[in-house]
Amino acid sequence: MNATDLDRAAAVRSPSSRRTTNEEFISDFKLLIKGRLVEGAGTLDVINPATGRTLTSAPRADRAQLEQVVAAAKAAFPAWSATPLRQRAALLIKLAEALEAEQGDFARLLTREQGKPLPQALWEIAQSIAMLRYFAALDLPPEVLHEDATRKVVRQHRPLGVVAAITPWNLPVLLLMIKVAPALLGGNTVVAKPAPTTPLTTLKFGELCARTLPPGVVNVIVDQNDLGTALTGHPDVAKVAFTGSTATGKKVMASASGTLKRLTLELGGNDAAIVLDDADPKEVAPKIYAAAMFLSGQACIAIKRLYVHDSIYDAVCEELGRLARETAVGDGLEPDTQMGPLQNQAQFEKVKGFLEDARRNGTVVAGGGVLERQGYFVQPTIVRDIADDARLAREEQFGPVLPVLRYSDIDDAIARANDTDFGLGGSVWSSDRERAFGVAARIHAGTVWVNKHLDVGLDTPFAGAKQSGIGVEMSQEGLEEFTQATIINMAK
Ligand code: NAD
Repeated sequence: MNATDLDRAAAVRSPSSRRTTNEEFISDFKLLIKGRLVEGAGTLDVINPATGRTLTSAPRADRAQLEQVVAAAKAAFPAWSATPLRQRAALLIKLAEALEAEQGDFARLLTREQGKPLPQALWEIAQSIAMLRYFAALDLPPEVLHEDATRKVVRQHRPLGVVAAITPWNLPVLLLMIKVAPALLGGNTVVAKPAPTTPLTTLKFGELCARTLPPGVVNVIVDQNDLGTALTGHPDVAKVAFTGSTATGKKVMASASGTLKRLTLELGGNDAAIVLDDADPKEVAPKIYAAAMFLSGQACIAIKRLYVHDSIYDAVCEELGRLARETAVGDGLEPDTQMGPLQNQAQFEKVKGFLEDARRNGTVVAGGGVLERQGYFVQPTIVRDIADDARLAREEQFGPVLPVLRYSDIDDAIARANDTDFGLGGSVWSSDRERAFGVAARIHAGTVWVNKHLDVGLDTPFAGAKQSGIGVEMSQEGLEEFTQATIINMAK
């Protein structure tokens, strides 16, 4: 997943994406409980972040419907886990084909509920399809760990049971697929719960599951941030696969502790990028800018702090400022838009607080305010001469506001980059790859890139260090997290 993939996705147009609206596609949303598409006990309004107005309403589950989905997933588990893995894989492929057939509509719906520019929505759907196909091609064979004249030791990977898949609002489809695909291949059943501000694409995915999978294997509910604790604490849920903020991740861990559930927590980040003195400002600035502003800065692995050597500090700030001023901000459905709005009102208010902090504690090179129009639009903002203890440098801004910090000694830069409770990603930028590798090896994070950022491969383990997470997603290792390793130790 990198800039090249994004460019490619921009060129993808399914037949349905030629239509200008997808009103039909958004007219009707239902929960998925035990294979049936049903009304919610209530409803909630879904806002289009590009207008600040209601897009449609979504069904909202109550506690009784939560009990129904967990019971449905539990009832479906024995037959699904007994289904041969290759048959489960074939159904994942069917799901991928079903999503592919509607990718244009899914992408437009995603832009309308999430705000991201349409090419990025198309990219997210394309990656989601790739994710289903990637996991469908994997296997979980038993492994002989030891064999001699007296004993044979075999490791099996057995399904866990019901998996709760809880997702945030920045990449609602992709982060759902990262969980659903390995959970299903591993023989588990699923209760999916999207964020309340982006439930629509997950509900539409539920419709694909209703057409493709046996009843109860995947269930979808929507809440208003009020059913999370009951779901993650439910005794019939075996594993929670969660992506969201560190604060909520801690609550998930606490409520899951009652039955010692398996957990994968992909949480917040405050990724530092360090630019060494030998980097070419004109060459690195566009790449750094793209990695900081992807999804309007609302990516867990966006660059959120930039440390630049004193000797090229002014040049890098100038380039970043120019790029920010040239960025076209607007409705993601408009063809020229390069950056969309923030996803929701709460995030908009939060980022306004960071802008205020930036104006007070630093020098704004470009941007610094909100757009004077309806919707949650923030100007891409570059801030220089700001201290490490400013809120913008210490906290996760999750918005298009990048602090650029100066350093003169590399040991000092590394210490400052590591001085955080987060540890999701980081990057080092230099014209000398070996030198950059040496610095990268000293950054405390799950992934550290050299001369790039944001590049995550399906076959590459993705994990957060420190308070950025627990466990691994994607890759064979990520698949195995949806299983229980069982050792069978036989006497001969
Ligand atoms: P959030 O933590 O507010 O919400 C995430 C999900 O948790 C939503 O579905 C929400 O309804 C649910 N939830 C809320 N309270 C809950 C509870 N008590 N128990 C269980 N579930 C509960 O996060 P967000 O604001 O939607 O997303 C932004 C955050 O997600 C950022 O911190 C970002 O860095 C992080 N994120 C991390 C990754 C990663 O892979 N590490 C990827 C994307 C986003």
